[in-house]
Order: sequence, then C-alpha cells, then structure tokens
Amino acid sequence: MSAVVVVGAGIIGSSVAYHLARRGVPVTLLEQGPAPATGVTGDSFAWIGGSGGHWPGGARDLREYVRADYRRLEDELPDVALRWTGSLSWADAPAPDPLPRPGQFRIGRSDIAALEPNLRHPPRQAIHTPSDAGVDPTALTHALITAAKAHGATVLYETAVTSLPVTNGRVEGVLTSSGLHSAAIVVLAAGTNVPTLCEPLAADLAIAASPATLARVAAPSGLVKTIVARPDFEVREVRDGELLLVVPHVEGSAAALAQAAQDALQHLKTAFQGSDQCHLLGYRTARRPMPAHGPVIGYATHDRSVYVAVMHSAITLAPTVGRLIADELVTGRPVSELKRCRPRGH
Ligand SMILES: Cc1cc2nc3c(=O)[nH]c(=O)nc-3n(C[C@H](O)[C@H](O)[C@H](O)COP(=O)(O)OP(=O)(O)OC[C@H]3O[C@@H](n4cnc5c(N)ncnc54)[C@H](O)[C@@H]3O)c2cc1C
Repeated sequence: MSAVVVVGAGIIGSSVAYHLARRGVPVTLLEQGPAPATGVTGDSFAWIGGSGGHWPGGARDLREYVRADYRRLEDELPDVALRWTGSLSWADAPAPDPLPRPGQFRIGRSDIAALEPNLRHPPRQAIHTPSDAGVDPTALTHALITAAKAHGATVLYETAVTSLPVTNGRVEGVLTSSGLHSAAIVVLAAGTNVPTLCEPLAADLAIAASPATLARVAAPSGLVKTIVARPDFEVREVRDGELLLVVPHVEGSAAALAQAAQDALQHLKTAFQGSDQCHLLGYRTARRPMPAHGPVIGYATHDRSVYVAVMHSAITLAPTVGRLIADELVTGRPVSELKRCRPRGH
C-alpha cells in the first residue's frame, strides 16, 4: 500500500501508526509537540472500559472489543502493562445507582470494604466492574511509537502540519513547518485540532473541546486498590506510589483551579485512611476532543485522500480503533464495526 501520513502523536495517532506499520504500510507520524502524548492524552485518567457510561453513537459498537484488543496489545508489546484492578462506582444517596450492565455487579458494604480496605466509610452499595482496567497513557503512547518505529515507521516531532495542499482536486499530503510530506492518504488524529486542519468538515464534525482537570498525587503504594468513582472525585493508582485524581472542573482563575485541586485532595484524605502523607505533585486542565454524536472515523473526502479519527474515551478505544482503521486502509474495504462512526455525508 502507498504511503500514509498520520497527524498527531496522541493515543489515536500512535495506535493508527503502529497498526499500519505492523502490516507493512509505509507510515510517517507527525507531531507538533516535542514528544508523544503532549496533547490531552498525557493528562488522561485513562480508565479502560468505564468512561462514566460515555458510549455515544458508534462507540457502543466498539465496546465489546476493547478488552480483547488491550489483551492483544499486552501480548504484542512487552512494555504495555495494564492494571486490571476492576472499578467501583457509586452515586450520591439517595439517587439510585444506574442498573448494572452485563459484566457489572451491585455489591454491598462488606464486599466494597474487602476490595478497598482503606476506605473509611464504604457506601451501602456500589457497582463493581471487575473487567475494568487502567493504563499509564503516556507510557502506552511511547510503547506504540517504539513498536511502530521497529516496524519501519518514521516519527517526527516539532513538526506542525499547517495545511493539506490540493493538486488536481486531491490532497497530496501535508504541508509542515519543515516542508511537504507527500502521501496517498492523510490520517487526521490531531484531536481538538482536527476541525482547524479540515475546515470544510468543521461544522459536520461538531467537535467540542471539553475541559477536564487531572491531578497527580504522591501516595503510599496500594492505598487505592481499584478504580474508585465517587460523586466527589475519581481516583486510581497509575504506578506504585502515584495516584491520578480527577478534579471537578471549575472555570475561572488559576487560584480557583488550585483551590479545586486542594479540595479534591482533601476529599481523598477524608475518604481513605492512611492518606495523611498524600500530597499533590501537580495538576493540569486539558481539552478533550468530544464529537457530539460519538466517534468520527472514516474518509473525510470523496477522493479518499483524507481520513479522520477523533473521539472521546480515546484511551479506551485506541487499540480497537487502530486495528480497525488499519484493516480498512490496507484492504480498501469498509469495516462494518465502524459504520456508525462515519463523518456525516460519507
Ligand atoms: C482529566 C481527563 C480524564 C480522562 N479520562 C479518560 C478515561 O478515563 N478513559 C478514556 O478513555 N479517556 C479519558 N479521557 C479522554 C482521553 O484522554 C482522550 O479521549 C484522548 O487522550 C484523545 O486522544 P487523541 O489522540 O485523540 O488526542 P491528543 O492526545 O490531543 O492527540 C492529538 C495530537 O495531535 C497533535 N497535533 C494537533 N495539531 C497538530 C498539527 N497541526 N500538526 C501536528 N500535530 C498536531 C497534538 O499536539 C497532540 O499530541 C480523559 C481526558 C481527561 C483530560
């Protein structure tokens, strides 16, 4: 197959580049930042499977493959290690928790305490999803890129794509800060920047850039065992001694954000015994690409020279989506799993 340029070394672009390269496609991955995962991917909570019930549009059709694709990646890439801890989530009383889906269980206080022994006041009940996992999103992105390069991909950083030049009515590649990169197909995996790069599609794509704040917390190893999603915060261990903590988002000044991070830390300390030494390592607000109608994946031009891949809960979906996109581009045949993800009009 002829050359493909992938724009954006977040989790989606890296997964697409890896899956194409391992099938022998000549791929160049271009990233404007100095390293992989410098977009929203590096600030993700990276809960695999949970996503707070966000499975809009075609995402629902991909859900059943997520776990198997992550297990496959663990086999293919020795550096990829997920934490298959399961998750516990509960809502504020007296609001009822949502009904469990298949693979989820409603469990009571003693079972919750067994799973999270450091919780001071386990709730009366929670939804337990044993198959949920977490991953270090930055490490995963690096692993995908290392493997893509081992399969022959070229990866260039500090290379911003400025436009998609057209010759004889067809996009011939990408124009970057360092010149033209020709390609038969350009895959836009540039997250919230996709509408800027493909302006005619901006209205169709309807991608909101939804802010969310993540804090990193130094903590005793094993303080939090599973992925805990409570009404006031979400927390999980990303590596021994470090927690990821989703901070309820506040619009406003830096001081307001700092206060929100401190408040979330305080809630964590109130909730978990043995957490006195916990302290913030940092926090950041990132803008999540969030197409209104679910993942947008497919050819964006009728001549099939531009392909777009942008979605929410992309950490969860990336291995599946990368595999399916590579299938589609290599075989030239549409895959049915993506049929509800197409850009409107395509
Ligand atoms: C606090 C928080 C919690 C989250 N929790 C979860 C979760 O639990 N589970 C889950 O699945 N998802 C979660 N998400 C969402 C998830 O992080 C995103 O869906 C995902 O990271 C998007 O990946 P991406 O590759 O599409 O975008 P990005 O990571 O933003 O990658 C796009 C890349 O393109 C590059 N780029 C942009 N424009 C150009 C250009 N012109 N030229 C070259 N390069 C360009 C950018 O620099 C960037 O590196 C969370 C997000 C946040 C912020």
